[in-house]
Amino acid sequence: MSLQIVDGFNRIGEENAFAVLARANALAATGKDIINLGIGQPDFPTPEHIVDAAVKALKDGHHGYTPATGIPELRDAVASDLSTRYNTHVSAQNVMIVPGGKVTMFSAILMFGEPGVDILYPDPGFPIYRSMIEYTGANPIPIPIREENAFAFSASETLSLITDKTRLVILNSPANPCGGVTPVEEIDALVKGLEAHPNVAIMSDEIYDQMTYDDVKHVSLLEYPSIRDRLILLNGWSKTYAMTGWRLGYSIWPDELFDSVRKLAVNAWSCVNAPAQHAALAALTGPQDAVHMMMQAFDERRVKVVDALNTLPDVSCITPKGAFYAFPNIKNTGWQAKPLASALLENAGIATIGGPDFGVHGEGYIRVSYANSLDNLMKAIERIDKFMRANPA
Ligand code: PLP
Repeated sequence: MSLQIVDGFNRIGEENAFAVLARANALAATGKDIINLGIGQPDFPTPEHIVDAAVKALKDGHHGYTPATGIPELRDAVASDLSTRYNTHVSAQNVMIVPGGKVTMFSAILMFGEPGVDILYPDPGFPIYRSMIEYTGANPIPIPIREENAFAFSASETLSLITDKTRLVILNSPANPCGGVTPVEEIDALVKGLEAHPNVAIMSDEIYDQMTYDDVKHVSLLEYPSIRDRLILLNGWSKTYAMTGWRLGYSIWPDELFDSVRKLAVNAWSCVNAPAQHAALAALTGPQDAVHMMMQAFDERRVKVVDALNTLPDVSCITPKGAFYAFPNIKNTGWQAKPLASALLENAGIATIGGPDFGVHGEGYIRVSYANSLDNLMKAIERIDKFMRANPA
């Protein structure tokens, strides 16, 4: 029997971090000592008061559907959190509660992608951008993210890629997989340039917005009134509050698009599960000490990991200013990135992700997530060192 599925499904891609995780777990199940620096999730548990709020919500009987857009108190809390943290006003009626950050990119790309149009996305970047663009049949146009720009996006390069076929530009800062944070001058220049393209929508993935270091301040695209009527903001709880498995996220949609995404929710997921929404409310309105504690730990690891990576033979690594990833340059080792990542997993028991899993511009780099204990990180880099000295390319 040969079933005929729509073409888009044949073009749909993957997130290799999940495949690496499965392989790492399979190797660990055979008794091998595996250290996983592949997956992008905090290694901390969700703070206790957030877990308690979900348990309480279940006990209090929050078992039914909620409005597709989310419970009103949570939408209010998101609007007020963003309005407090950024120099802007966000209205609760533009807030959509969704099951994970990914769902916002899925929705935005479905809304704008179709054959014959261009969608710009960062490369190296989160792999689902390109996968979903290809699913819709739109042309994926990579915005190169370069080490010489400290892995920030370049306003002029991004603007130079816009044509009359461009419908959507996807931006991400602080960024996965490189840890780059785009400076305010570059964002100012980008927004200024975008003003000449009023028909281009923008999706800004700011899921790592609270994860910056060395006094670098994240600037949200929300702070630019001239593009607010075509800006979709992606954010959520996964990274900041260590809640990846809860499947929770939120987005801010302009008035013109809001009802379309609400209807998509009604058709696809109805609503986010009710106790998770109560947990999300506790996360935003409760104490933020756990967030600060996690950031201090990430910062300490970041400094030590980057120092250690720079001692590896022929490897260099710039200090990332955001998220929890380092993106060491391995070009001088002679290794290709994916074979190296795979050899490190199979032979040294260290899971990392080859740069090309994030796009063609990722060749020559591997992604190291420092969302792991300092002990494990140091042990991992020692093992990488030993492997690389014993196995020159
Ligand atoms: N956007 C970026 C840049 C990410 O790195 C991730 C997760 O790794 C997501 C979105 C998706 O987040 P979520 O797990 O909430 O779907």
